[in-house]
Amino acid sequence: MATVTCRCTTVQIEFFTKNDLFRFECCCHDCTAALWYANKRGGPSPPIHQCLDTSWFPNEFKIVTGEDKLGAFLNFENADTTRFYCTDCWSVLFADHPAYAKKLVVTQVMNYKEFKGLDNAELMPLQARHFLKDLSGEQFAALPAWRGDPSHVYHSAADILMAQFPAIQAAGKEGAKMNAQILLGKTGGAFVPTGEACGA
Ligand SMILES: [Zn+2]
Ligand SMILES: [Zn+2]
Repeated sequence: MATVTCRCTTVQIEFFTKNDLFRFECCCHDCTAALWYANKRGGPSPPIHQCLDTSWFPNEFKIVTGEDKLGAFLNFENADTTRFYCTDCWSVLFADHPAYAKKLVVTQVMNYKEFKGLDNAELMPLQARHFLKDLSGEQFAALPAWRGDPSHVYHSAADILMAQFPAIQAAGKEGAKMNAQILLGKTGGAFVPTGEACGA
């Protein structure tokens, strides 16, 4: 079963499957800004490219260790995405978004080079690369070549993702014992950086 582990190994969560439900590369500003912010707080280094390998899993998992070290943050006030992280080492582990309707969580932990954040997973091939509009010309030019279907590269949100979303969501799960919403309750709610919003 796929596991997500933080750099200091205090936190480990386990999904009930090896397989992701969708996988793509996200070049949006917010995803990378969250890693920059966590890095400023002592977290692992973000990857050099603003283009993150991204996998969705069912919102059903077990917290193997470190439940009391899990925290949550929003990039800014009223942000949609809630990101869960280890409060000891500031590894950003996985995230929730209202559009997932409690059926999915997303992880980008495999982008860290300093440690193996995602293990025992069988990931599908990358299906798309999206949000190129958030890249500067220089950042775009520096990206590694896209090796997937050339028609699956998108300026903003990937059409293929939108088209498949109902099926992806239907394949998701809302864990009865533990899920992102139950965990958020246990953390006491997401913290919002004040005066140093992510990517500001
Ligand atoms: Zn940690
Ligand atoms: Zn993104």
